Amino acid sequence: MPEGKIIKALSGFYYVLTDDNQVIQCRGRGVFRLNKVTPLVGDEVVFQAENETEGYILEVKDRKNELVRPPISNVDQAILVFSAVEPDFSTALLDRFLVLVEFNRIKPIICITKMDLTSSDEKAMMETYRNQYTNAGYEVILTSSETEDGLEQLLPHLKGVISVFAGQSGVGKSSLLNAIRPDLELKTNDISSHLGRGKHTTRHVELIKIGEGLVADTPGFSSLEFTDIEVEDLNYCFPDIEKLSEDCKFRGCLHLKEPKCAVKEAVSNGELPEYRYEHYELFVQEIKERKPRY
Ligand code: GDP
Ligand code: ZN
Repeated sequence: MPEGKIIKALSGFYYVLTDDNQVIQCRGRGVFRLNKVTPLVGDEVVFQAENETEGYILEVKDRKNELVRPPISNVDQAILVFSAVEPDFSTALLDRFLVLVEFNRIKPIICITKMDLTSSDEKAMMETYRNQYTNAGYEVILTSSETEDGLEQLLPHLKGVISVFAGQSGVGKSSLLNAIRPDLELKTNDISSHLGRGKHTTRHVELIKIGEGLVADTPGFSSLEFTDIEVEDLNYCFPDIEKLSEDCKFRGCLHLKEPKCAVKEAVSNGELPEYRYEHYELFVQEIKERKPRY
């Protein structure tokens, strides 16, 4: 049976992209209703072709992950877009996005935009941050959609994977997508009204081909709440802290008041940037103060 990936869902039809680049318009069959699986954009499916352009879905394969907003599955990568200035770069906000992305087992790539607008001090500052986040284990790309600097570094990362862009409004997500794929002509300053709401009456997400990869046309991680994250999860959501924690005296050390904590030692000897630890502590607090939902 042929297989493919759902790249668009609209009015009861699922558009399945096959390995040989055909898009087959498929209907679902009763099989999902029995299994209570609603096919999602991003799903790997097995389908039965009825003719060259139409068919129906027989099976939805197990998902690697599933985002709610936008409703999409099997996301491999999140391009976290932050501007160096206008709005100013914030490590607190970046660390929050990183936690949410890591929690969903998605690979983050940090993309700093608007480098053309930085003064030499600001540029040096962004380079310091780049080094610090690189040390934490992340890929960091400094770009400008205006001068197109750094864009060539982003494109290879999109190859062969499903990516979502994420970041505050106004940081330059649509400008970046336009710069790497000018034929898209996304309206800048307005990604969400162009994509998903304004243009289409129902909320929907579509995977678009950029370079040799697929990118969701709606930004992800619009909710920045730690709804499902527990304090114990934070360790693996901070890979630099997780690595250091191998040397904490106590297993399951939360790096708060425990003695002989390798994470706190790394902060005092300058190995771990203070702000990373402060944000970790802040998020622990936030999760502890969260009202129980049940
Ligand atoms: P979005 O809301 O994240 O999609 O942000 P937009 O792409 O709409 O960009 C917001 C504003 O910043 C627009 O006025 C863009 O022209 C501007 N902008 C975006 N990227 C850059 C950049 O790299 N350099 C400069 N100078 N302006 C940029
Ligand atoms: Zn510790």
